[in-house]
Amino acid sequence: MKIRIERAACVGNARCAAVSAELYPLDDDGYIDTDGFDVATGDEKTAKNGARACPERIIFVIEDDGTQSWPPARG
Ligand code: SF4
Repeated sequence: MKIRIERAACVGNARCAAVSAELYPLDDDGYIDTDGFDVATGDEKTAKNGARACPERIIFVIEDDGTQSWPPARG
């Protein structure tokens, strides 16, 4: 599982970091400080919770088969 983050669209409200400051570090100005990462075994649930916490929906969850499981496709 991978996380991809549309960093340029971050508005800096720190909801992701509130779930996990380790997985979702912020820069000195409070914006997300990573473009994404490979999710380590055991961190899947926390990574997903962080993605769901982002109100901007710019944290994408990519499963091992390449499908995007978050955010849901917009109709
Ligand atoms: S929750 Fe989303 S908008 Fe807020 S700091 Fe994290 S990535 Fe940026």
